[in-house]
Amino acid sequence: MAKASINDMDTNTSGIGKENKDSHGNVLIIGGGPAGLATALMLAKRGWSNITVLEQRVAADYYEPDKAFNYLIDGRGQKLIEYLGIKDELIKAGVPSKELYLTFIQADGSRKTLNLPIIDPNRKTAYWISRKTFVLLLYQEIIQNWEDKITVFFQTKCTQISKSDNNSLEVFAESENGDRFKFEPDLLVGADGIHSVVRSTLREWEKPTSDRFDMKLFPSPSSSLRYKVLSLPPKFPLDHHAEEYAVSEMTYAIRGAFSDRRRSISLGILPIKNPDEARTANIITPLDHEIWKLKNGEELYQFLEEAFPQLPIRQIISPEEAERFAKSEGGYFPIPQYCSGFYCLLQQGDAVGVVLIGDTIHCFPPDIGQGVNAALEDVYILNEALSKSDDDISFALPLYESLRIDDTKALVRLAQTSFPWQYNQDRLRQFLWGINFFLRLKLSRLLPYLFSPQSFFLIQNYQLSYQEVLVKERRTTQMLYLFSLMTIFGILALFGILNYS
Ligand SMILES: Cc1cc2nc3c(=O)[nH]c(=O)nc-3n(C[C@H](O)[C@H](O)[C@H](O)COP(=O)(O)OP(=O)(O)OC[C@H]3O[C@@H](n4cnc5c(N)ncnc54)[C@H](O)[C@@H]3O)c2cc1C
Repeated sequence: MAKASINDMDTNTSGIGKENKDSHGNVLIIGGGPAGLATALMLAKRGWSNITVLEQRVAADYYEPDKAFNYLIDGRGQKLIEYLGIKDELIKAGVPSKELYLTFIQADGSRKTLNLPIIDPNRKTAYWISRKTFVLLLYQEIIQNWEDKITVFFQTKCTQISKSDNNSLEVFAESENGDRFKFEPDLLVGADGIHSVVRSTLREWEKPTSDRFDMKLFPSPSSSLRYKVLSLPPKFPLDHHAEEYAVSEMTYAIRGAFSDRRRSISLGILPIKNPDEARTANIITPLDHEIWKLKNGEELYQFLEEAFPQLPIRQIISPEEAERFAKSEGGYFPIPQYCSGFYCLLQQGDAVGVVLIGDTIHCFPPDIGQGVNAALEDVYILNEALSKSDDDISFALPLYESLRIDDTKALVRLAQTSFPWQYNQDRLRQFLWGINFFLRLKLSRLLPYLFSPQSFFLIQNYQLSYQEVLVKERRTTQMLYLFSLMTIFGILALFGILNYS
């Protein structure tokens, strides 16, 4: 679909209308993150053409310091990656989970390296990859193989969506330099993340009669934690004598010296393939933590030097990065949430519709590492729905919602409960979580027909749907209650017998 400026449209309204559509119709995707680009590729592979993606960021590999997370693309996300035929590219750009080693560096400088303990070795290899590299990987696939079908406009923001009198869609966008554009897609895809303008528009349209597009919130102990991402050089020194430097494919857990909750801090550094790419450490703490009170780079240096006496902080963090970090607002972990409406049809027959995907329909803190995998799985399910409906969106979109909604609810429940205590918010709860995790793991190995591992472990099995993971976890919880009750009654009965005799 060509982009036409509003000024052109005033004189030439046929610029982007149904006149241009192929047998599948025009597609406009709002958001060029993982979900948006993956949807564009999936549709192109299905034979759709005339696909346009609008992305407000400057470029696919634009580095946003506070969005520099590392994804673990697991078997769930890989279903779509395999369908798109880009698994080899993922393998080249990612670090395999099976070769993952974690080095703990204590405040006194002592070190210990081990194989990650809670990665299930029997599961399909997953790949660590930075968000920037993953989005670039999808974009490069578009440029290399699908440029005739997919056009991506960067620095272009969707500003408004409306319905015309004849129930066609009108989508307005604005570029960085102030040019304004209008599109009339047959299929509009909302892949614009948690603050989706597409979902808000559907919410307004359906407000009087339905709450399908309202996000339903389910708080968790990690929601509302604040985070900032600290960028580190690719090979930074790990001690004051420059004897050892960070290795790109190694994971580091660098423990701080402070023990009180408001100052305690540690650095978790995930692996990346490219030895020349910047490393990142997510700083995640409660809102009353000292780190949020630091006003400038020098205050940050002083705090980190006290917190990490084992590290040559001023050699690792540049003055510019220290200043940027201190001044950055960072972000807050979202409350786990989903909406129950994933689509809207404006016209049946010669269908015009809107579909939502990825963080637009479900969003949660990164505790279970499923944000990007769930987004890719949404696209995979949408692909299935299109296959079963002969690409007729008036059947495919309702089918997509019905195939995905229960899994989405289960996913958000798992995001709430699986591993929310991993950020040192409460040492006791974290300790109890650990006991629960290892108890279930041991029991599941001893009595696999009665017990299952904890959900954080089960999620790694991509052959289980989120619903199946939840059912297994709940059944194990019931079994644990039953065994506890039987033990208590057994002890009471024993006391009764002893007293009686
Ligand atoms: C701190 C943090 C850490 C995370 N860590 C992990 C992790 O370890 N593993 C994991 O799997 N997930 C993680 N996530 C979640 C993960 O980033 C998301 O689930 C994933 O990016 C969802 O992809 P998406 O394409 O649906 O949305 P997004 O990645 O949010 O992409 C939406 C895109 O739409 C664009 N956009 C928005 N509005 C407009 C508009 N009006 N016009 C044009 N473009 C627009 C945005 O610029 C963006 O590029 C983390 C999230 C946070 C906040």
